[in-house]
Amino acid sequence: MPAEILDGKAIAKQIQAETKQKVANFVAAGGPQPKLAAVLVGEDPASQVYVRNKERACKRAGIDSELVRMPGDTTTEQLLEKVNQLNADSAVSGILVQLPLPDQIDARLVLDTVDPNKDVDAFHPHNVGLISQGRHRFLPCTPHGIVQMLKRYNIETTGKNVCVIGRSDIVGKPMAMMLSGYGIGLGGEFANATVTLCHSRTADLPSTVAQADIVVAAIGRPKFVTADMLKPGAVVVDVGINRTDDGLVGDVDFDAAMQVASYVTPVPGGVGPLTVTMLLENTLAAAIQQHDA
Ligand code: NDP
Repeated sequence: MPAEILDGKAIAKQIQAETKQKVANFVAAGGPQPKLAAVLVGEDPASQVYVRNKERACKRAGIDSELVRMPGDTTTEQLLEKVNQLNADSAVSGILVQLPLPDQIDARLVLDTVDPNKDVDAFHPHNVGLISQGRHRFLPCTPHGIVQMLKRYNIETTGKNVCVIGRSDIVGKPMAMMLSGYGIGLGGEFANATVTLCHSRTADLPSTVAQADIVVAAIGRPKFVTADMLKPGAVVVDVGINRTDDGLVGDVDFDAAMQVASYVTPVPGGVGPLTVTMLLENTLAAAIQQHDA
């Protein structure tokens, strides 16, 4: 029997409707309208699409948004000045700096300069530290979207073997941290896993993947995870977005995985829509926290 598709698009729609209602309730109770400021440096086509999608999603949820466009030759100092302006602007609840930034910019310094209270991507070291201690202020959007998807499909992770492939600060590392934690604020059933975090120096990746009940692939290599690597009945979450001549392709060989796994996320329409959705949740959370402070 083929696997069931984890429909990220449908889950995203459901969560966005909930967020819209929460925003309306917050504003009706006297709160300010949440506002997301997105900073886009340069003309990277994929970044333009991502930022546009984020703006549209904000609008649908009743969240105000501002797109700050800066030229491709912007310096670190100019970008820091803009970030500091947004930090000081009380109408801005959340700030996101769209990655990747041009090479001449010190991206680490820029991300470290975003006010941790407005850091809706949860990239600031304060926020990463809080997540590692199980007392998050914000959860990073992609891993949080994945947890929400597992949750809404009742795929519990407690006691399960999870293999996360990829150790980036944006996806792999926080995913491993969240799934191996106590699940505070997530529902403990959706954490408490035994997690193995793999990367390009992992000695025998196929045998590690083969033991996993849940595989999260965040590598950036088209169809890297093949059916022969997977344990029958595994849950396969494909984070990868790879632009190929055949269009967008994930890090998992989708058709093959469908024959072996129990659940598989498609690309597109899997994890991607949830990433944007959790950004809205974080922007609302930021507005609420700032209002309550
Ligand atoms: P990075 O390039 O930052 O990290 C990739 C990771 O994969 C690294 O840890 C790298 O290992 C590991 N890796 C690369 N090659 C291999 C290999 N042959 N075997 C094992 N591990 C390997 O990528 P991101 O985490 O930012 O993104 C991963 C993918 O997810 C991309 O396709 C990206 O577009 C997509 N993405 C999708 C999102 C969504 O919303 N759906 C959001 C964010 C990203 P090492 O550290 O050793 O180099």
